[in-house]
Amino acid sequence: MKIILLGPPGAGKGTQAKLISQKYSIPHISTGDIFRKNISEQTPLGIKAKSYMDKGQLVPDELTIDIVNDRLANDDCKKGFLLDGFPRTVKQAEALDKFLDSKDSKIDNALLIEVPREFILERMTGRRVCKDCGASYHIKFNPPKIEGKCDLCCGKIIQRKDDTEETVKERLDVYSKQTAPLIQYYKNKDSLCVIDGTSEINEVFQKVCNILGSDK
Ligand code: ADP
Ligand code: AMP
Repeated sequence: MKIILLGPPGAGKGTQAKLISQKYSIPHISTGDIFRKNISEQTPLGIKAKSYMDKGQLVPDELTIDIVNDRLANDDCKKGFLLDGFPRTVKQAEALDKFLDSKDSKIDNALLIEVPREFILERMTGRRVCKDCGASYHIKFNPPKIEGKCDLCCGKIIQRKDDTEETVKERLDVYSKQTAPLIQYYKNKDSLCVIDGTSEINEVFQKVCNILGSDK
């Protein structure tokens, strides 16, 4: 099962990714999480990525494509994987297809979680994340069971630096210009499935499962 999650920032990709990865036993690969880990470890990649992420811009394709190709070459991706936040440009999508072609493989489903712009600001400014595992919470819609502690790994819950109103607006513009063209890209390949992401988290997950089926 090889899946891509598409949708604007704040659509609920990371939230659904955790649930899908658990149910279908496939690794959840989030480029945002990979960059954030590199930032906290102050690696050369992290230092470069931070300057773009803080402004709400995309990290350049040259840096992003290589880290995904390396990650997909790991043994745990042989059975399948779930990409969250990648691809974000047509160039990244083409590079992914090239990588998979070379392994005689392809994407099974590109799931687009659709959420109108008016929902997004509240979702993103209220988002809190686990510093250790990246799990996503919301102060109103999905608070952790114990305040300040991740339900999954007990890590500390923090607010992302790029979840301010100003940066969210920039990220939405970047999404419209650079990432939204991927909707047509995957439509052309007949792999696009559109999911209404405005309902409650478990209802959205149910719609995802209806598309993916019960197979592992
Ligand atoms: P993305 O990974 O697409 O940027 P997240 O999964 O981090 O988005 O979700 C953004 C915010 O919205 C988080 O605070 C999350 O808890 C909340 N959220 C996710 N899905 C829903 C939903 N269906 N209804 C309400 N809030 C949601
Ligand atoms: P996310 O965690 O998916 O919301 O991503 C946070 C930030 O990481 C984005 O705003 C970008 O700056 C950067 N980023 C994540 N994935 C990509 C990608 N595929 N291409 C370029 N930049 C990315």
